Amino acid sequence: MQAKDISEADVVVVGAGNAALCAAMAAHEAGAKVIVLERAPQSEAGGNSFFTAGATRFVFNNIAELREVLDVSEEEERTVDFGVYTADNFFDDMGRVTQYRCDPDLTEVLVSNSRPTLAWMKKKGVKFEPMYGRQAHKVNGRFKFFGGQVCAFWGGGAGLVESEHRIAKTLGIPIVYETAAVSLVQEAGRVVGVVVESGGLQSTIRAKAVVLAAGGFESNAEMRARYLGPNWDLAKVRGTRFNMGDGINMAMRAGAMPCGHWSGAHAVGWDMNAPTFGDREVGDGFQKHSYPFSIMVNADGERFVDEGADFRNFTYAKYGLDVLKQPGLFSWQVYDAKVTPLLRDEYRIRQVTKVEADTLEALAEKMEGVNPKGFLRTVKAFNAAVRQDIPFNSVVKDGRCTEGLAVPKSNWANTLDTPPYQAYAVTCGITFTFGGVKVSPQAAVQSVAGQPIPGLFAAGEMVGGLFYFNYPSGTGLVSGAVFGRIAGTQAARHAGGL
Ligand SMILES: Cc1cc2nc3c(=O)[nH]c(=O)nc-3n(C[C@H](O)[C@H](O)[C@H](O)COP(=O)(O)OP(=O)(O)OC[C@H]3O[C@@H](n4cnc5c(N)ncnc54)[C@H](O)[C@@H]3O)c2cc1C
Repeated sequence: MQAKDISEADVVVVGAGNAALCAAMAAHEAGAKVIVLERAPQSEAGGNSFFTAGATRFVFNNIAELREVLDVSEEEERTVDFGVYTADNFFDDMGRVTQYRCDPDLTEVLVSNSRPTLAWMKKKGVKFEPMYGRQAHKVNGRFKFFGGQVCAFWGGGAGLVESEHRIAKTLGIPIVYETAAVSLVQEAGRVVGVVVESGGLQSTIRAKAVVLAAGGFESNAEMRARYLGPNWDLAKVRGTRFNMGDGINMAMRAGAMPCGHWSGAHAVGWDMNAPTFGDREVGDGFQKHSYPFSIMVNADGERFVDEGADFRNFTYAKYGLDVLKQPGLFSWQVYDAKVTPLLRDEYRIRQVTKVEADTLEALAEKMEGVNPKGFLRTVKAFNAAVRQDIPFNSVVKDGRCTEGLAVPKSNWANTLDTPPYQAYAVTCGITFTFGGVKVSPQAAVQSVAGQPIPGLFAAGEMVGGLFYFNYPSGTGLVSGAVFGRIAGTQAARHAGGL
């Protein structure tokens, strides 16, 4: 189907990532005739959602609640420590990492709908799997999960997108590719359609309601420099090249209130030689997230963050910014042989910027761009500062810290003394931007005057007010699902005049 063949729908959904597809499924379930518009070609479908590991965070107080989402076998129940993740844990994590700026009403919606929404997706045919590889380590022969996150969408982001698109097809929801929404059509303030561009031609699709789920502005170098600041135009983009801020800009032109942390973004340590935008074959493999077991040094050979401040789930999304602030915009993560068995799968991909040596001196010479003397000075001081009387334990915050350093390491501090040594070079990779538009708990886009713009709903990265400074891992997909489902349901109700 092409844009020129469509003149109207009850609900038009803009974007075909996870938030959009959840909105489309929910609107269809509520009885609306839905169409989905996607700027990318079909070969690049799925937006940022495609590039994810599919990791997801939700509330479960016991194994029965976990089973509403994840199929846990009886043997797993006996042999694996999944822990629990309470609503209080989720609130605490959101509050702590966002410096208590996250919108309390939206956070309440996210937390309380997290499990029911994923269970709803499961009923639709989306599957889940435990994240043994990345979120659990074996302790005394038994897997123990850490960081409040135990499962992922089956097959990662690619599997999720494939499932959602298959479900949409089964339900008869058309997805129209290479069709960009350009602007919203308004009559007497109500949103009554979308102007689209496809193959260089513009046309109008009339709709009773529109759900915008077109991502943030992370792919747009100009907007990154304008809103995030100097050098953000030089960051690598971890995912899609199509999230250019279109949805946010369209909504603001229709009177939406900008909201949230417009100068903030989710950004991580990402292979220094990764391509400008995400690579669909490599997915999230360019990230390097075992740094809590490393020391990270800059061009001067100096450490610049507390690598062990918390589980990586609660620091990785802000450390990209710290790397961006370093001279040359890069850093090397350094490991010795005591901890290399703990390195995540992404350290073993072919496209990796890695050096290895049997002595620290030889390693220093191989780490391109790093002052060797500065590095060796740093290691000497670091090794002397490690509290070796405290035992190392990777699955809890072990308190094995350094003492007396200007930049401390609070957990998992180990001396670097066992060859072979390995080092991995990273730069800043942006994931998504935090600024967006204001929505109500019903996902209705709010005007500057604080009123809903009739007929306009938003979900996913475009929602402002949830994330500030930082982000708890595995929250993007569930947030897109929660607000997407609500937006789709509300849009269908609006379209039906309810
Ligand atoms: C490498 C990577 C790993 C990640 N890992 C995880 C993870 O494990 N767990 C997690 O929870 N989150 C993860 N995230 C974050 C997660 O991807 C996002 O939070 C989430 O996917 C956003 O969903 P969305 O539907 O809002 O946006 P997207 O999935 O990006 O969808 C937006 C869609 O809108 C389309 N679009 C843009 N402009 C227009 C227009 N004008 N007209 C029509 N269509 C348009 C885009 O092409 C795109 O398909 C990761 C992100 C990346 C990049």
